[in-house]
Amino acid sequence: MGRDALEIGLGNGVEFSGEPRCYFDPAAVGNAGIYCVSHAHEDHLPKSVQGKKVVCSDATLRCAISRLGCEIEIDEPNGIEMKNAGHVAGSTMFLVNGDRKVLYTGDFCPRNRLGIVGAAPSKADVLVIEATYGMPRYVFPPTDAMIGVIKDWVDDNISQGQSVALFAYPLGKSQELIRMLGSLTPYLHGSVMNMTRLVEGTETLSKCLPYSRENVKEPFLMICPPSVRNSNLIRHWKKKGMRIAIVSGWSVESSFKYKMGVDEAFPFSDHADFEELMAFVRACSPSVVFTHHGFSVELASEIRRSFGIEAHPLIRNQKSLLEF
Ligand SMILES: [Zn+2]
Repeated sequence: MGRDALEIGLGNGVEFSGEPRCYFDPAAVGNAGIYCVSHAHEDHLPKSVQGKKVVCSDATLRCAISRLGCEIEIDEPNGIEMKNAGHVAGSTMFLVNGDRKVLYTGDFCPRNRLGIVGAAPSKADVLVIEATYGMPRYVFPPTDAMIGVIKDWVDDNISQGQSVALFAYPLGKSQELIRMLGSLTPYLHGSVMNMTRLVEGTETLSKCLPYSRENVKEPFLMICPPSVRNSNLIRHWKKKGMRIAIVSGWSVESSFKYKMGVDEAFPFSDHADFEELMAFVRACSPSVVFTHHGFSVELASEIRRSFGIEAHPLIRNQKSLLEF
């Protein structure tokens, strides 16, 4: 491979050739190379990492240690710049400053919202971008309008004497909901409480309480992970009139509410929507784009068609060679 050639592939996470070799959001962490973890959502955390070193933010490290239950050390970024991804607490994009600049986004969101500062684009020669909502039909309503809709729905139910459960991921969306609805002193499911303790300060923690069936005063607001929506806990309260809603970008699909079996589904997301993905690509003005996660084929095709920029989906175990 020539000095100015770069090999990129989807294998152990997103892999880049170079000295040292870089792995972004790897499934396993080894001893040779640099291993960069963008954030602590479970689908981005390595499975085997005991005693190994990774490049990540302090908040990601705390959450990763708690979720994986093992010791992990922070590695030196070694020329890799960590940039705010605006997705969840501690989420990071990585900018590799070699012969050519390579930006890896991980999950990211460019919108400022409820204590989270949105991700800013960086000029890059090669952009590796997530494609979770990489199709034109995934466009979210304005953030402020959505916050108003969620608050009104919760307030209306509580004022009518009905308790409410909101389903959201324990890391990220749940803390945004606490900031949005803190005046109601929400009760937090154990997993939400755990993540909130790890990433928030005393001000946010003072706005919420740990849930236990004995200590709640009805009507109440509860924030819990989507996985508990069919649990005995929720069944118990639904019999007593509880209203339940999910907070997720997938709610722009009208069928999502029925699929999830909830009363309401609110399209409030911590990812970029389709238009924001496209605007981010244009602002980074790369020579070549690689898409991964979600609608990677569709997003790459839209980027080629709209901007005439070379764009490819990353396909597992296929490597691309870039000559500069
Ligand atoms: Zn994520």
